[in-house]
Amino acid sequence: MNCKKCDISGTVVLRRKDYYCGNCFITNINHKFRACIGKNRAISPHEKVLVCLSGGRSSTVLLDMIYNGITISNHKKLRMTPFFLHLIDNNKNSEQIANTVVRQCKQYDFEVFMIHMSEYVSNSTNLPEPNSIPANNYEAELQAMLGSMTATVRNDFVVKIRRHLSIRIAEQLQCHFIFTAETTATLAINLLSNLTVGRGAQVQDDVSFCDARDGKVKILRPMKDISKEELIYYIKINNLNPIDQIDVKENSLQSVIGTFVTELQDSFQATISTICKTADKIGTDAGEETNQQCVLCECDLRMKNNKLTALDATNFSKMVSERSNNIHSNNDKLENLGDQESMKSMFPFINERLCYGCSRNYLEMDHCKLPCYIQKTLQS
Ligand SMILES: [Zn+2]
Ligand SMILES: [Zn+2]
Repeated sequence: MNCKKCDISGTVVLRRKDYYCGNCFITNINHKFRACIGKNRAISPHEKVLVCLSGGRSSTVLLDMIYNGITISNHKKLRMTPFFLHLIDNNKNSEQIANTVVRQCKQYDFEVFMIHMSEYVSNSTNLPEPNSIPANNYEAELQAMLGSMTATVRNDFVVKIRRHLSIRIAEQLQCHFIFTAETTATLAINLLSNLTVGRGAQVQDDVSFCDARDGKVKILRPMKDISKEELIYYIKINNLNPIDQIDVKENSLQSVIGTFVTELQDSFQATISTICKTADKIGTDAGEETNQQCVLCECDLRMKNNKLTALDATNFSKMVSERSNNIHSNNDKLENLGDQESMKSMFPFINERLCYGCSRNYLEMDHCKLPCYIQKTLQS
């Protein structure tokens, strides 16, 4: 079969039906990447952008595309000043992964800042020397906190930690934008995971192009239209060396959803794109503007405007099961469903300091192990 664009023999096959030659494929994917940034008109020329790198497939491709974008000299030039950040997870390969990320960046003459995830325990982080692994001062505290959670809560919480730390570093480097490397498959899995843990109202910020919850720093996802098979071809054609990573803790809702989406995609090629298109259409009813944000995830706390929420549903079943023995004498209680006081008693800090998803996490962990600055904000 010949290339769709130029008629020479096609070596890249997408969605089992579209043939491209190597050159046209690379041009196409670079175009997709720039179009995603351009279309959203998010960044202005010479904007400082913090790029988060994990060293995995999509991160490796993002790094290569940024380098190509800022070094070409025609009208397609990407006008931005990139800074790079790698968050060091505590696992047995973390040092090896960090060193690989440094090596990847050095190939392009870039420097990368590295921060331990455990910095979350402290409320401030000093920017370390680039390209070097800093001391890990709070690992025991972080592990004690994460260790008190179920796998599902832990996966959900780690996403919030990563977000919080990247914003912290972006502020220090005076970057108003962050790029993260999620591709369609990751976003589809995140969307369904969000729904299952009661974060339906946050879907827009968590899986769309732009997360604007933080007042100062916006998180952008310029790889969101790029699929896994495109990544694999890009890596092969350009001879890149990503790290194989398994991020999600096994036996959790997120890992089950991950397997489900990936296996369905193998048989039905439109699975992931359908999920993502649906996500693009989901918006939240803005309701009244409030300045109240969840202390843990920064989502807006304006649930009162929504008609029926996951919180109401859980609240209802909890109330019914608790009252089932003497339900006749407590009919009036059922009528109070949605009443703020009864909700608060079941879900700590709900709608005042925490969103429903974070309040549930708070219930399901040893909350004394939360960092002190967070505990203080919760109690304030
Ligand atoms: Zn071609
Ligand atoms: Zn929250």
